[in-house]
Amino acid sequence: MDADSGGYFSSSTLFKTSLLTIAFSTFYLYETRRQTTTPKPFVVKKEPVTAIKLKPVIIKKKKTIYLTFDDGPNKGTRKVMDIMDAENVPATLFIIGEHVYGSKEQHAIYDSLMNDHLFEVANHSYSHAFENRYRRFYELPDSVVKDFERCADSLGLKSNIVRTPGRNIWRIQNLSCTDIVSTTAAADSLQKKGFKAIGWDLEWHFTNDQRLVQSDTLLLQQIDSLFAKNKTKTPNSLVLLAHDRTFLRPADSGALHRLIIELKRRDEYNFETVSRYPGIEEDGR
Ligand SMILES: [Zn+2]
Repeated sequence: MDADSGGYFSSSTLFKTSLLTIAFSTFYLYETRRQTTTPKPFVVKKEPVTAIKLKPVIIKKKKTIYLTFDDGPNKGTRKVMDIMDAENVPATLFIIGEHVYGSKEQHAIYDSLMNDHLFEVANHSYSHAFENRYRRFYELPDSVVKDFERCADSLGLKSNIVRTPGRNIWRIQNLSCTDIVSTTAAADSLQKKGFKAIGWDLEWHFTNDQRLVQSDTLLLQQIDSLFAKNKTKTPNSLVLLAHDRTFLRPADSGALHRLIIELKRRDEYNFETVSRYPGIEEDGR
């Protein structure tokens, strides 16, 4: 092999190499440009998914029932307390001063009432109208006031809420009424002395031998009806009057228990003590 053929071979190789370099560079430039100019595929930007939080549905209990029990402490009072405690329902007990001092057991019941947060104790006079001598009692307004003061002082009651024995009398803010006109002067005297008298919308009646007159089913219907017809003293508020002593027998305490369970089942009903009654404005527990 001579020098020319060797030079030719070298030149040819160099030429081919140059061509390849040019071709490669051209391809590289084309490819680089293609990659930089090709539009990126359109991507829908997804917002982070946030869980929609629904507010819990709260059923507002618009109607309030004020359970009140009069004339304790007596043998029926523990029955009432046991039922209210079992159902965790508050109640107001209008106490007769004389009954607290009637026996050791009655005094013990009174102490239990005062130490149970479910119960509110209020004043039902000391002597219960000179032991049910209603006409004579209400003829003497000053004596009426003194009888309530005696009850409050002897028991150290902080509450000035009272219920008048045997008479459905109301003397609170914006509500003043009396079922028997002859008691008006006594009711006014109580109010002047700062007492707040609360009556009732519905009574659970009883017979002479202390048995309930209405069944729990009938009483429930009466409660529903008074609310529905707006016949309570204050709209959406109902004061129920019952008496401790009528719940001594199992059949009658059973009726009270069934009534409370049924009332609790109704979503619309709420329970409160009378110091929460509209217009009372007192926290006298
Ligand atoms: Zn009474």
